[in-house]
Amino acid sequence: MADKKTAYFCMEYGLDQSFKIYSGGLGILAGDILKAAHDLNKPMVGIGILWRQGYVEQKIDEQGRPCDTYHEYSYDFLKDTGVTVTVKIRSKKLKLKVWLCDCFGNVPLYLLDANLPENGDRLITGQLYGWFNEERIAQEVILGVGGVRALRALGIEPDIYHFNDSHPMFAGFELISERMKAGESFEQAYQNVRKSIVFTTHTPVPAGNECHPLRLISYMSDRCGLTLDQLKFIGGSPFNMTVAGLRLSYIANGVAKLHARTAKKMWADVEDCAPIIAVTNGVHNGTWQNEKIVNAFNQNKPLLTEHEKIKKDMLAEVKRRCPGANLRDDVLTIGFARRAAPYKRGTLIFSQPEKLLPLFEQNRIQIIFSGKAHPNDLAGKEIVRKMYQLSVDYTDNVVFVPDYDMTVGRLLTSGCDIWLNNPVRPMEASGTSGMKAAMNGVLNFSVLDGWWPEGCEHGVNGWQIGGGYEGKNADKHDADSLYATLENEIIPTYYGDKNKWEQMMRASIEMSSQQFSAARMVEDYYKKMYSKKPR
Ligand SMILES: *Cc1c(COP(=O)(O)O)cnc(C)c1O
Repeated sequence: MADKKTAYFCMEYGLDQSFKIYSGGLGILAGDILKAAHDLNKPMVGIGILWRQGYVEQKIDEQGRPCDTYHEYSYDFLKDTGVTVTVKIRSKKLKLKVWLCDCFGNVPLYLLDANLPENGDRLITGQLYGWFNEERIAQEVILGVGGVRALRALGIEPDIYHFNDSHPMFAGFELISERMKAGESFEQAYQNVRKSIVFTTHTPVPAGNECHPLRLISYMSDRCGLTLDQLKFIGGSPFNMTVAGLRLSYIANGVAKLHARTAKKMWADVEDCAPIIAVTNGVHNGTWQNEKIVNAFNQNKPLLTEHEKIKKDMLAEVKRRCPGANLRDDVLTIGFARRAAPYKRGTLIFSQPEKLLPLFEQNRIQIIFSGKAHPNDLAGKEIVRKMYQLSVDYTDNVVFVPDYDMTVGRLLTSGCDIWLNNPVRPMEASGTSGMKAAMNGVLNFSVLDGWWPEGCEHGVNGWQIGGGYEGKNADKHDADSLYATLENEIIPTYYGDKNKWEQMMRASIEMSSQQFSAARMVEDYYKKMYSKKPR
């Protein structure tokens, strides 16, 4: 059977550092999917938004607080398709230009752009995740409704509409509305539309799932002509975007096995919910794996020697970016780079200073932090401030690299010695940075959350923290486990058994290179999702 033609919808795409239409994990996943679909010659098109001002750039001010800055970007490599579509926002027409990014040959990416002189609000496609609820709804109308209209205007007829997370949900309204205009009843249109929609859910934290009051959706959009009752039927009241995704799709997936189980429990009460399966994320080898390590691995050459060169270059670049930093080439280097969100517990390793500080004093370990908070996330910004403060307090052992982005990500996931990940279980849906690290022989040191239970062989290809514990005093429990493993296993191996370290690096690359590649993930999407018989 021929592969189904898929239109992949996502709010953001992380394709290259210089193309600033992404914020973090969600967009990088989408970018890696397009790249893998290109490598595998799969029939896919991407639909997204051309964010003129991109995502926040993070600077640290004199008081050590993060502050957000924006710039205006333009891109010469985008092609004008000549196509425009319109959507209605606050009862006014908004014209959208459709740009083509054809960097991935057989997998074109079409980007919607409101920056036209005739539009009253040209900056609605300005800042990714900027502003507040009203603008978010407008942006989601642009992505979903504008996206379907763009496909029609371009003459593209997908078999499958893949909504990556819930932002594209309004595309479902447009698909239903098209059928109702052709004479179907709402019920018929709803049943038919969901024969072609698949949905990937991401957030196992209830508050992370977007809800909008029906009134606000009505105020911002024309609902593609659907009534409030029909909207309520799809997503409830207030309108829950994830519930809508589970009802509008014929199959949905979580982004790791554990996450799929968590999502099933979380949404067990949703009537008429699509089956939720697991398609574990993967990362694009060509983007994230350091060539020198791949070559050494393939030629059976010593990995540690190669890694030490990569680490040295990384430390030099960190020093260039953070002139106050005082890290050493021969000290075990722990990397921790994440979106700054409380559940990720960025400063857990500092929770028992009496255990940590002696390791600093004896120069056994050093830590490289990086992380950004969403523009309106004050708790996240406080975490960044704390991490930065730690780098000031412990200049010889801690550094904070500002403005975490794809370049910093690639640098740290290939140059550190171990990759620390200690979220509150089971709140990390997947955690793709650990896969990048694993492929580079950077050993994972992680709570058994997200993808790690599928890859971890403790003491063989990395280390686990906490034994899968969930419940009371998880911070203390996990921190105790973290220190014990660090002191009794990781540090003695690093300084005392280079052969074992070398073997572990090899085992880590072996474990991850195929199983956690974007190619495996995209093959899974075609096999387990797109070609599945609709319910
Ligand atoms: C890989 C990556 C992410 C996602 O990784 P997580 O493990 O989910 O945090 C986020 N931001 C950047 C810049 C990345 O490179």
